[in-house]
Amino acid sequence: MYDSLIKNEYNAAKFISIEEITQLEKYFQIVDLKTPKHKYFQKGGTRTAWRYANTFFDKRHEKYMFNISKPALARESCSRLSPYIAWGNISIRQVFNEALKCKTETNKKHLGAFISRLRWQAHFIQKFEMEHTMENASINKGYQKLKKSISLEYQKAWEEGKTGFPLIDACMRCLTETGYLNFRMRAMLVSFFTHILWQPWQASSQHLSRLFLDFEPGIHFPQLQMNAGETGINLLRIYNPIKNSLEHDEDGTFIRKWIPELAHLETPFVHEPYLMTPLDQQFNNFELGVDYPNPIVEIKVARKKASDILWNMKKNTEVKKESERILRKHTLSNRDSLLNTD
Ligand SMILES: Cc1cc2nc3c(=O)[nH]c(=O)nc-3n(C[C@H](O)[C@H](O)[C@H](O)COP(=O)(O)OP(=O)(O)OC[C@H]3O[C@@H](n4cnc5c(N)ncnc54)[C@H](O)[C@@H]3O)c2cc1C
Repeated sequence: MYDSLIKNEYNAAKFISIEEITQLEKYFQIVDLKTPKHKYFQKGGTRTAWRYANTFFDKRHEKYMFNISKPALARESCSRLSPYIAWGNISIRQVFNEALKCKTETNKKHLGAFISRLRWQAHFIQKFEMEHTMENASINKGYQKLKKSISLEYQKAWEEGKTGFPLIDACMRCLTETGYLNFRMRAMLVSFFTHILWQPWQASSQHLSRLFLDFEPGIHFPQLQMNAGETGINLLRIYNPIKNSLEHDEDGTFIRKWIPELAHLETPFVHEPYLMTPLDQQFNNFELGVDYPNPIVEIKVARKKASDILWNMKKNTEVKKESERILRKHTLSNRDSLLNTD
């Protein structure tokens, strides 16, 4: 059901024929570069890649670890090199060498963490090359038995940024307009989709991959599965969008920017508009369910259901056996690279 559009049925012994290449072309869209639709997209090219790299190593890295989880500030404090790395405008080795040159006693907390992420990039791509079936199915076969019922209504609300949870909706709308989100917010979007809305991770893949300017299958698929809690080897994290909103967008700047219908509300209501009484709504000239949706799910109930099912599955014999297999196949003695969290 979740098969990708392009079926990977090629093998090295057979080679790919001209006819098959012609067939593939129909899946690609021709982009009109002269009339860009998205004014916020990062511009392409090696020269621009180096501009981003230079400004990052000169100054922007100074608050890298302080801001990495914050949806608004991370946009400036992170390198923003991912599209250039993914499209080959700049190589990991070039960025790695530049980071080593700039690393000092004073900035080692920030550039050290940055360098780890460059290693993760290579680690995940290698892992995907060794086990490409994870494009369609959970790498841990124990989780392939997990059946979730599809809700097209939930999926549409999530894709359009109309779930009634402001940080989730702001993230999706921002991603649609700019092609970029920081790590934690990407992880939270996937966690919300797979845990709170209880949808299969495969159903989030195509939408996100179309939006990410830096789409890299080697990072994308492992991250989807990790944040869906279906690898068996990573910590199960069910992100709470309200907690994240209060901690990482304290004054609601990010939400206000991307959800203009909430921009005029006081900060507590920006995070949780559904807490407004009818009188609050009247004073604020705002109608819940009309100006902005009511939450589409009862979050506490949904989190508990996801948590109970997934923690229980972790104890399953096949899940455990598969976890051991994954660790044996993809890691050396050092397991740090798998503990991939911000
Ligand atoms: C669900 C999900 C999907 C993702 N899909 C992609 C994707 O398609 N392409 C992509 O490049 N990144 C992806 N990431 C990882 C990460 O979010 C982005 O690499 C990062 O946000 C890009 O911003 P930056 O260049 O400013 O990163 P920085 O923090 O400045 O990091 C520098 C570089 O390190 C690499 N990197 C950073 N974080 C990670 C990570 N967690 N795992 C592996 N490599 C990392 C990237 O190449 C990045 O450009 C995904 C994360 C999640 C949770």
